[in-house]
Amino acid sequence: MIDERSDSPDPTAIHNPMSSRLASGPASHRMMPSKGERPLIPLAAPVLAGNEKRYVIDCLETSWISSNGEYVGRFEKAFADYCGARHAIACCNGTAALHIALQALGIGPGDEVLVPTLTFVASANAVYYCGARPVFIDAEPATWNLDPTKIEASITKRTKAIIAVHLYGYPAEMDAIRAIAERHRIVVVEDAAQAHGARYRGAMTGTLGKIAAFSFFGNKILSTGEGGMVVTDDGELASRVRLLRGQGMDPTRRYWFPIIGYNYRMTNIAAAIGLGQLESVDWHVERRLQIVQHYVDCLKGYRKVHWQSPRPWVQNANWLFTVTIDSDVRCSRDSLMARLADDGIETRPIFPPMHALPPYHDAAREESFPVADRISRLGVSLPTSAGLALDDVTRVCDAMRRILAD
Ligand SMILES: *Cc1c(COP(=O)(O)O)cnc(C)c1O
Repeated sequence: MIDERSDSPDPTAIHNPMSSRLASGPASHRMMPSKGERPLIPLAAPVLAGNEKRYVIDCLETSWISSNGEYVGRFEKAFADYCGARHAIACCNGTAALHIALQALGIGPGDEVLVPTLTFVASANAVYYCGARPVFIDAEPATWNLDPTKIEASITKRTKAIIAVHLYGYPAEMDAIRAIAERHRIVVVEDAAQAHGARYRGAMTGTLGKIAAFSFFGNKILSTGEGGMVVTDDGELASRVRLLRGQGMDPTRRYWFPIIGYNYRMTNIAAAIGLGQLESVDWHVERRLQIVQHYVDCLKGYRKVHWQSPRPWVQNANWLFTVTIDSDVRCSRDSLMARLADDGIETRPIFPPMHALPPYHDAAREESFPVADRISRLGVSLPTSAGLALDDVTRVCDAMRRILAD
């Protein structure tokens, strides 16, 4: 049969030699049509078209497959350089990275940590793992990130830190957050799991607070399958994170454990993939920018959907292009998603807010979070990955207009 995809990743549209290899890559493989159907457009698929394969084969051929291989150090160094930070410590996943970042700051039982309620559950769970209590903050209507005007009312004597989550790649309003944190002597932690390569007033995510955590899960902007990274300029904090990551073993005395740590190490194989990904990070960031720009061009002036409002001092890393349906539209978010799925378009709902989840519901019962509730009820993430063709974006937008016209 004839592949109706005239627009599989177009090498001429991207000035990068990697793009010509995309057609045979795993991303496009998953987009292959089955008989008689339109090809599936996946929500997020990694593109592993650089040196990833070569480096992984190197791990296998040399048998350096555990966390003791050289790719771990190389990936850490390259990632620190990319962010413009002094230290980067690779972990087995982003949740582990966030957990030991908080623990290295000394956060523990009796402490409170401010967390936006509109985030992925790991932001809150990492606080809970430390024995501390997450205190939720409502979202800002324009950016969906935590609302700086709602922070101070939630600060108590027990508040130790605030986690700034850069939701869907859009940096949180750091100037306001940092000013409040300074005034109350609390620490700013970045959850940059969704925001590799984003910038705030020219500065890279990962350098906007005291310490930051990134994720390299399969659907994130850069991927190692599972993986994470702690980034900080503070040498003492970095040493503590390294200690916590490796079972708490004294770096100068083998099998001596001055503290209780974890095995949160990244394997050499994952780091090999990460290094390959990082070598082409500029291409990944640029490609996502093109894709989201195309969404915006296609949907500009269309009043039935809304997205995070751009601000001139913020450079979005464009993890997942996510829209809210206007509340006047009759079609529900869930039926929009079901009808897009019938068209072969994979989507997913925006995160349910933390305060609505069973483990956190009771603690947050007294408070209300109307903005996060509304965004969460009406929000849907659309396909966004570096390997997506612009024609696929057009197809998604056409389908949305058709469905929402009913
Ligand atoms: C993905 C994600 C994490 C956790 O990362 P994992 O690598 O999946 O453990 C943490 N916070 C946010 C906001 C995320 O999106």
